[in-house]
Amino acid sequence: MKHKKPAVPYTVERCGSCGRDEKRLFREGDVVFAAAGSCTCGGKMTIEMIFGEAQG
Ligand SMILES: [Zn+2]
Repeated sequence: MKHKKPAVPYTVERCGSCGRDEKRLFREGDVVFAAAGSCTCGGKMTIEMIFGEAQG
């Protein structure tokens, strides 16, 4: 039997203005389609995707 490593949750934010996306570690309270921070272009970032990625 294989030992399963726990997946690490990530959040992807996307800018509505320039389309830049940014992957970062999931933070408590993150919800898909919720407003995130501001982009370097001045646009607003929205959470586009939350997923778990296995390590190793
Ligand atoms: Zn932008």
